[in-house]
Amino acid sequence: MINTDKVLHGFTDLKNLNVLGPIVLNQAKGIYVYDQDGKKYLDANSGLWNSVVGFDHPRMVETAKKQYEKFSGYHAFFGRISEPAVELADKLIEISPFTDGKVFFTNSGSEANDTTVKLLWFINKRKGHPNRRKIITRINSYHGVTAVSASMTGKPYNSEFGLPLDGFLHSACPHYWKYGLEKESEEMFTKRMGEDLENLILREGPDTIAGFFAEPVMGAGGVIPPSKGYFEIVQKILKKYNIPFIADEVICGFGRTGNLWGSQTYNIDPDIIIASKCITSGFFPLGAVILGEKMTKEMMEASYEAEEFFHGFTAGGHPVGCALALEAIDIIINEKMIENVRHLEPIFMGGLKNFEDLEFIGESRGIGLMGALEMVQDKKNKLPFDGSISIGERVANKCIENGLICRPLGPSIVLCPPFITSEEEMGIIFDTLEKTLKEVFSEVKSLGQ
Ligand SMILES: *Cc1c(COP(=O)(O)O)cnc(C)c1O
Repeated sequence: MINTDKVLHGFTDLKNLNVLGPIVLNQAKGIYVYDQDGKKYLDANSGLWNSVVGFDHPRMVETAKKQYEKFSGYHAFFGRISEPAVELADKLIEISPFTDGKVFFTNSGSEANDTTVKLLWFINKRKGHPNRRKIITRINSYHGVTAVSASMTGKPYNSEFGLPLDGFLHSACPHYWKYGLEKESEEMFTKRMGEDLENLILREGPDTIAGFFAEPVMGAGGVIPPSKGYFEIVQKILKKYNIPFIADEVICGFGRTGNLWGSQTYNIDPDIIIASKCITSGFFPLGAVILGEKMTKEMMEASYEAEEFFHGFTAGGHPVGCALALEAIDIIINEKMIENVRHLEPIFMGGLKNFEDLEFIGESRGIGLMGALEMVQDKKNKLPFDGSISIGERVANKCIENGLICRPLGPSIVLCPPFITSEEEMGIIFDTLEKTLKEVFSEVKSLGQ
């Protein structure tokens, strides 16, 4: 076993790592990755949601080579910019729901969210509203790991860092299956979600709120599509109090939900879009803040007054990353990737639904090519498994043994296969998963659960 002692693994159970050992991956082909011993895994998680056009797409490899040969890298400060970055900004506005706007480049989704918060603070300060600083996100949301974006992320683990920072607020999570009350219809539930948000706004003072950030479908929170009508109600409330809606499309953007944007899937009319992950299909670190017309105007006014927007990342707008993003977007659109997501959706969602017949599957959920299975000890009253069973990890680890990568998220496992997945490969995913679930469930039963 290779020794990874000197690596500080992030988002990894370090105690368990000593037992299971790391997985060192050195090669990939299509939707498969290979470890150092040559073992092959079908990656039903597209890397980390992002490698959607295939790990070795020849057009991507060729684009990187060509761009490195031509112009290997440059910053985007002091009015300097490379051609691919200009083209990518144009392209992102063209394919966005906005008729016009501006794009700011970062290296990651976290930085894009962080940048957006600073941008809102900057605008509000210049407009004479220095107290309009509070940010609302939802419980279970994921927006990243920098001090600000982690404060936005609605997960309990951030208390390990003494986060969230002051002024980062979390409204209720619209997961009907889990949080719906007894005898509460989905419609009533959604109404309650709206009330929760509005009460929070009123309690804090509407004129202290700088923005509301939401993922169209919560991703790392466990693949949680909104309850029916949720975003209609939310948008009404935000409009009423003049609060900008920022769509964190880091996972949903570029086709995951079956449309180019999750905002289209859920009729969201955002003021700003945050993009990353699929934007380069995992070939380069890149994030983007896409401002619509209104925010662009406000931003420009503030920037003229302040002389500049004092913000930027050394490698933001890197020409190689931007060239790769242009290529990935072209592949997604012109090689009919979104059509394939739509074609596979019923097979994928139907396959997940079938598992609801198994004893310990409480809920299957998802949309497009993002889905989750949540496991419970007792289906009737949705009683969760004891934490010591680590049910999600157990399934994910057994999947690895069986050559399938899918990710545990608490008591759930998440699947988000690449957009190039074939029907045959989808069959392999479900056959392997079925075998794995049956193995794990009989193991769990023998533990006396
Ligand atoms: C992954 C993710 C982020 C953070 O992106 P990084 O590139 O890991 O910093 C932000 N928002 C959402 C919705 C994400 O899924």
